[in-house]
Amino acid sequence: MAVPTIKLNDGREIPQLGFGVFQIEPGHTAEKVKAALDVGYRHIDTAQMYGNEEGVGKAIADSGIPRDELWITTKLDNDGHGREAAVSRLEQSLTRLGLDHVDLYLIHWPRPHEDRYVETWQGLEDARRAGKARSIGVSNFQIPHLERLAQETSTPPAVNQVEFHPHLVQRELREYHKDHDIGTEAWSPIGQGKGLLDAPELTELADKYGRSAAQVVLRWHIQLDNIVFPKSNNPERIKENFEIFDFSLTEDDIAAIEKLHTGNRVGPDPDTFG
Ligand code: NAD
Repeated sequence: MAVPTIKLNDGREIPQLGFGVFQIEPGHTAEKVKAALDVGYRHIDTAQMYGNEEGVGKAIADSGIPRDELWITTKLDNDGHGREAAVSRLEQSLTRLGLDHVDLYLIHWPRPHEDRYVETWQGLEDARRAGKARSIGVSNFQIPHLERLAQETSTPPAVNQVEFHPHLVQRELREYHKDHDIGTEAWSPIGQGKGLLDAPELTELADKYGRSAAQVVLRWHIQLDNIVFPKSNNPERIKENFEIFDFSLTEDDIAAIEKLHTGNRVGPDPDTFG
């Protein structure tokens, strides 16, 4: 079944479901990305920090899939803030990926204590003008960081990629994104599998639909218009996580999942990390 797309504020369309490669070992990345491409994934989410862009590039090259059928995202590492560094780091990513452009380039973390994310964003604008990144966005930005970009630069981020799962439902950011036409990318969409998928509310919905709890949670993201890229090393789960377009949750199901919110993060606090 075809993966739907989300139209971004720059007019480009991103596949709503992708494959994330955080914590996939560099030496195994090409094999795991191949498994995902074989299932039908056409959107891969990597980062300089993951150390596995070369593996992603190898899988792309070996696949023979036309470049314009793929959506490749990478992210600027934390020690690469600054206008010029942001561009030169992307050039290094492109070499590792074996590509002449990425579809989406993100500032991985805002690092507000360093306070360079505005000039770094100008570097991403330069990269976009040079055709090296077709779309540009941010990750782990809080509302005050997004406000600074809106006040001091001329390009709104196409997306903000943030931790988002049933334990952290990001109501305020979601509203802000909606009001400012910023796409919401949900990282750790199934909470890294830790202590979430066995919640009775989710296992009951899984039974109701004859699906796994992971599929129910991923479907919830899809119906919230989030962009998601679950990670797995396991070929069966890679396939399972792709099979979420032939059932729908009701409004009540969606509301029940939102009630699982605790505010607990699986990752670091964006205001202090990096
Ligand atoms: P995730 O929520 O995708 O969970 C992945 C883990 O869940 C797997 O390691 C596995 O243990 C388990 N799992 C996967 N499929 C399952 C299934 N069908 N049933 C049961 N368990 C299953 O977590 P993630 O990898 O942290 O996040 C996904 C992607 O988001 C990453 O690969 C990366 O691309 C991105 N990410 C971005 C940031 C950021 O700062 N921008 C941070 C973390 C992750």
